[in-house]
Amino acid sequence: MKDNNCIFCKIANGEIPSATLYDDEKVRVILDISPASKGHALILPKEHYANLYEISDEMAMHVIKTAKKMAIKMKDELGLEGLNVLQNNGEAAGQTVFHYHMHLVPRYKEDKVNMKWENGELGEELKEELVRNLSFESGI
Ligand code: AMP
Ligand code: ZN
Repeated sequence: MKDNNCIFCKIANGEIPSATLYDDEKVRVILDISPASKGHALILPKEHYANLYEISDEMAMHVIKTAKKMAIKMKDELGLEGLNVLQNNGEAAGQTVFHYHMHLVPRYKEDKVNMKWENGELGEELKEELVRNLSFESGI
């Protein structure tokens, strides 16, 4: 399942060269070309999934296991003080490349990364509505 017009399909499968940190039969981890901080990396599945809604359970599991290994390597080698793991789905969420990828963004005391938002309030009515509509039975 590859998309011929997708740059991350080409990078993940080695058709376009990249600064690769890890590579196996399912994923490739590369350095982001416009890093938010030193060591900013991306985990790319080798199969094309546009986003989290589409990714297979098996691939999702492999991605998170890769993230854990990569995170420990970064912690040991970079002298980082924190690490953000994030993944954008849809333009409104900031997704610019529509091939699922997970960001690993190492954090340092004086870095220029900004992931702040204004905190709202969870009112009683809205809380009840959300719990009613969003809760689901086990079955993962
Ligand atoms: P997102 O906004 O979540 O879709 O993230 C896309 C990320 O891919 C951005 O951080 C870009 O800097 C990065 N990116 C785009 N093209 C390349 C490329 N050819 N090689 C490495 N990273 C890239
Ligand atoms: Zn793709």
